[in-house]
Amino acid sequence: MDCLFCSIIAGDIPSTKVYEDEFCLAFRDINPQAPTHILIIPKTHLASADEITPENSAIVAHIFEVIPLIARKEGLTSYRLVSNIGPDAAQTVRHLHFHLLGGKQMGETLA
Ligand code: AMP
Ligand code: ZN
Repeated sequence: MDCLFCSIIAGDIPSTKVYEDEFCLAFRDINPQAPTHILIIPKTHLASADEITPENSAIVAHIFEVIPLIARKEGLTSYRLVSNIGPDAAQTVRHLHFHLLGGKQMGETLA
């Protein structure tokens, strides 16, 4: 399957990794929108959060355990998590990812 983030997981496309384990990978966004902008992705391909089911949700729970560890490593206790789902939300990479954004005062608008 032709998937940019699967290629990053495979090591075929370089990335600046900040965390990796058996189940997930976190790396810096190539076009950062905040001083800290990290993408956290499962190593198994899911197109978006809209594909989360009882069968695969353990990986998402794991990612949400890892996120605070990454935030601490970045020196953040306050940050924003975003996951875009599909074209209306301007999802550009169809592999589930959570944006961890921090290091600046965010605006109140989300959309
Ligand atoms: P989304 O619009 O939610 O699908 O987010 C996709 C994100 O992936 C964007 O913020 C891009 O800047 C980021 N991105 C695209 N290609 C790369 C890459 N090769 N390495 C790191 N981040 C990337
Ligand atoms: Zn993928």
